[in-house]
Amino acid sequence: MLPTDKKTTVLYVEDNPDNRLLIRRILLSENYGLLEANDAQEALEVLKTNKPDLILMDINMPDMDGYTLTAKIKTTPGFERIPILALTANVMRGDKEKSLEAGCDGYIQKPVDFDELLREIERFLARRANA
Ligand code: MN
Repeated sequence: MLPTDKKTTVLYVEDNPDNRLLIRRILLSENYGLLEANDAQEALEVLKTNKPDLILMDINMPDMDGYTLTAKIKTTPGFERIPILALTANVMRGDKEKSLEAGCDGYIQKPVDFDELLREIERFLARRANA
């Protein structure tokens, strides 16, 4: 399913260590390469030297929210086409719209359903590959 020469790499931006642990287990068990960032600043640091295939984006973070960070990444030359999936516990009306407005390609609600997460990741990677 995944190319053997180069792992498909996912950057997960999330300030909650418990969430990171959970999703780390899932992604590593599916043989994805994984980069992690604890906040927006760390994510921008990681992106200086890495170009992940997909980004999972927490929305509520201490330094800069995931909407702002997404908009920043999506306007960075060379990074516009990396799919970004928002992960958020927010259940307020309009969150999906806000994510999409910021440039997120998809939206997954917390608590994360792992099958749905993996399905969505694969769907967006496949879409990108076919573009
Ligand atoms: Mn958070």
